[in-house]
Amino acid sequence: MKRAQPLMALAIAIGLCACGQQEPPDAAAAAPAQAPAPAPRGVDAVDDARLVAAASEPESWLTYGGGYAEQRYSTLDAIHTGNVAQLGLAFSYDTNTTRGLEATPLVIGGVIYTTGSWSIVYAVDAKTGKEIWRYDPKVPPETGPKACCDVVNRGVAAYQGKIFVGTLDGRLVALDAKTGIPLWEKVTVDQTRPYTITMAPRVVEGKVIIGNGGAELGVRGYVSAYDAASGELVWRFYTVPGDPKQPQENPALEKALPTWTGDTWYEIGGGGTVWDAVAFDPELDLLYVGTGNGSPWARKIRSPGGGDNLYLSSILALRPDTGELVWHYQTTPADNWDYTAVQHIILADLTIDGQPRKVLMQAPKNGFFYVLDRATGELLSAKNYVEITWATHVDMKTGRPVETKIANYDDATQVIKPSPLGGHNWQPMSFNPQLGLVYIPANDIAWAFGLEKKFVYRPGGWNNGNDPTTGDAIPRKDVSGRLIAWDPVKQEARWQLPYPQPWNGGTLATAGGLVFQGSAHGTFAAIDAASGKVLWETPTGTGVIAAPSTYELDGEQYVAVMAGWGGAFGLVGGDASQAANEGAGGNKNSGRLLVYKLGGSAQIPALEKLSREVSAIAGELDPAHVKAGNFAYHRWCAFCHGVGAQSGGVLPDLRTSQLFFSDALGPIVMEGQLLSKGMPKLSQWMTQQELDDIRVYITAKRNELAAQQAAPPTRASAGGN
Ligand code: CA
Repeated sequence: MKRAQPLMALAIAIGLCACGQQEPPDAAAAAPAQAPAPAPRGVDAVDDARLVAAASEPESWLTYGGGYAEQRYSTLDAIHTGNVAQLGLAFSYDTNTTRGLEATPLVIGGVIYTTGSWSIVYAVDAKTGKEIWRYDPKVPPETGPKACCDVVNRGVAAYQGKIFVGTLDGRLVALDAKTGIPLWEKVTVDQTRPYTITMAPRVVEGKVIIGNGGAELGVRGYVSAYDAASGELVWRFYTVPGDPKQPQENPALEKALPTWTGDTWYEIGGGGTVWDAVAFDPELDLLYVGTGNGSPWARKIRSPGGGDNLYLSSILALRPDTGELVWHYQTTPADNWDYTAVQHIILADLTIDGQPRKVLMQAPKNGFFYVLDRATGELLSAKNYVEITWATHVDMKTGRPVETKIANYDDATQVIKPSPLGGHNWQPMSFNPQLGLVYIPANDIAWAFGLEKKFVYRPGGWNNGNDPTTGDAIPRKDVSGRLIAWDPVKQEARWQLPYPQPWNGGTLATAGGLVFQGSAHGTFAAIDAASGKVLWETPTGTGVIAAPSTYELDGEQYVAVMAGWGGAFGLVGGDASQAANEGAGGNKNSGRLLVYKLGGSAQIPALEKLSREVSAIAGELDPAHVKAGNFAYHRWCAFCHGVGAQSGGVLPDLRTSQLFFSDALGPIVMEGQLLSKGMPKLSQWMTQQELDDIRVYITAKRNELAAQQAAPPTRASAGGN
């Protein structure tokens, strides 16, 4: 993909409880009759009624998106614009992980349930940060290379005494919420294919909803429902057709089949994975999921005779009882750019043209903000929320985007916005119904798309049909991010907060007039929801990509967030990811749960600095080998170790790696000696000549770094901006 160079390239019940305060027995006896504080209700008492009414229980955070509408809005207002400056760390909890953290913590009955890298689940006391239990599903490390975008996990679901987690290797596990002991476990995927699970499950009417990812490597997407009590599969909906020579699983797929041509897609999988968004409207009895990009990305390879390729890059409304498709809206027909529509889906009631409408809102990767009627799937409006160059607009008559000339890269490499990282990715947006604003963690990144002309399917490897060696380097000025306060009725930004790097954290909106968001450069901030002014900001020591949640315990409001740089951009992002790491203090990556409250005075434990000091390696380097190594590096290594051989601090920076420049390199790369750490064995694809060339290329990049370090610092080399 991108190659070298400077950059990357790439309750309404307001916390009624004054009653939360414990009083001494004699005082209580003397006081007039006052109801005792109700014990916080735990996971045992999480049922359908409580999940439907999650918004009226702001002291808890019951589901991934803060309720079935996924608004991520809390009516708690004890922390507000007037006092947020007094916010401080209540406690931190070390996950003992060094990879990306993407989970939103659930908080139920005084316990925080969250996840970390490698699908590990943590139960932590919500007042003290003391660990109650920890469950490690022991994901085999060789699963790591199946994950396009780091070994991340976005969190758990809670229901009737159980905590549910999807593991990277495709299992769905039900844990006893009190002990963390597994009660049942189901393998939800064909583990011989490169499926992974990173999403948080959701429980809807007694069924656990779970999808999976893997479309970069090549899989057929689907979403499944498992019985929460027994773990039995209730239904499965495939999002793309199966074997074109066979009858399809259901009428919706029979309808989809003619929108595909050729049969390459079937061998590779077709894609359309359901790897993140799920929302539910109990009144309409509709379950909403988003589907991902095509496998491969390039439509010329995937469906050479054209076609929209249903149901890629679509929003699907399904019956939660049966998985039957009720309606669909395809955001990106004939996807060609990894423009998934799995991004966070928010349900809300808006007044549009004087009419109250039950809407669904999504800002998928393709850069358009969509407002749909969620009963029918009717497109109400669509407008680009970031700069886009692949389409001019969405035609309101057809509901289809109108592509520009450069959108097609069949014949020539094209620099296109948004990038495959999306105008918006999985980082959840939030909605403040009082202000009528959606807070979108947006990315502004350009990308050079080029067709892989001699495409060969490599089972188990990346199969996106894009040439890693085409395209010019993307200048740093074309790699940034911002927080957008979006008015979904007017379809325009109310305010915007720019960030030096993309890939900032998900958002939380509160009735205190605040938006909480972490940043790529290692801070956590409270922002005035109406104006976009930063009211409070604190260093976190590592980039924050996850979304916060909030809860109330014993009369105090807390805000919790997972801090741990990584995910797709954290790994691949090259110099922008490195600049984020340096902005965060240049520390070794270290994952933590951070919990804040007014007057909190705890400190984040001291973090170890990452050293990038190197010396040059003497000797002439053959430019032909440097060039060949650049090619091979960006085909095999850059997705994890960073474009331009620049690491953002999550995985080793090869320029500074002692192991890389030792005799251990061959055994590690070709024989899989570090498989236990997730480093794949590459001999099935990579040749010894390629490895030799990569060594030359990395030596050249190391020598460049050494020369920079020897030169006096300049503004230009300081990173960030
Ligand atoms: Ca993708």
